[in-house]
Amino acid sequence: MDKKIFVYTNGTEMSTNIEKILRKKLNKTGLRVFEEYDESTELIICIGGDGTLLRLVQDFNFPKTPIVGINTGHLGFFQEILPEKIDDFIFLYNQDRYSIQGLNGVTCCVKTDSSSSKHTALNEITVKGLLTHPVHLNISINNSFIERFSGDGICVASPAGSTAYNYALGGSIVDPRLNLLQVTPIAPMQNVAYRSFTSSILLPSNDKLTVIPCNNDDCNLSVIYDGMMTDYKNIKEISICLSRKKINLVRFDDYQFWEKVKSKFL
Ligand code: NAP
Repeated sequence: MDKKIFVYTNGTEMSTNIEKILRKKLNKTGLRVFEEYDESTELIICIGGDGTLLRLVQDFNFPKTPIVGINTGHLGFFQEILPEKIDDFIFLYNQDRYSIQGLNGVTCCVKTDSSSSKHTALNEITVKGLLTHPVHLNISINNSFIERFSGDGICVASPAGSTAYNYALGGSIVDPRLNLLQVTPIAPMQNVAYRSFTSSILLPSNDKLTVIPCNNDDCNLSVIYDGMMTDYKNIKEISICLSRKKINLVRFDDYQFWEKVKSKFL
């Protein structure tokens, strides 16, 4: 029976051209492209860069269907296939010669004096002051008070997000086989008045981080999940943990995480 495929693209000229070529090739090989995504879809092909994959994940709320990326973006760290390797991909996929890499997201619950909202991101949840205001946040791990953080904010990354904003902030690259949460300070203040951790801290996968604004001035914060931002007023508490939601990326035999890191970062 034909396998059911859904194609998601960022709509750039290059991606649209690749999509046309891909559709022709798929139709010849028993892989049928459907115009709608539903749970019977067997593969999602994402044409674009990492940003496109992040949008797909939000649009389809962490679909369980395996996803494979064709890179037409700038970096393409998540993306497995180069446009010129589409034939190889179809051949290997049809022969079931691939594995699945599960990547968990990170989730937060924001409680204000009048509401409670959840966001889940694949890369990271960032908590920052509005505009350029530094913030003072009481940070607890599993309800045990750890530090009073002062600075621009904190970035809480999943293993998948360790190579994104987290890395730019000086955080560590994490092999995604290690399921952990990385908390990286953004411009921590260090002087006689304020003391904060200046390096990332790593938490086991089932730990919970809680952020409580220290003063009334710190209760208005931006919460950013994979680049999408919501500003909140009168925040009482934000709790952040690894999400049970995950995506399943298709990886072929030659995929090696550290080779990918080397090729994209060095
Ligand atoms: P964007 O400005 O288009 O993306 C920023 C860059 O991050 C792009 O080059 C993107 O790759 C790359 N990227 C995304 N996820 C990655 C990952 N897991 N590993 C390595 N690189 C990754 O914005 P966007 O498309 O909305 O993406 C939002 C993401 O941007 C956020 O989740 C955050 O991690 C990242 N970000 C980075 C910085 C920084 O580095 N200073 C600042 C803010 C946000 P492609 O070129 O393939 O799309």
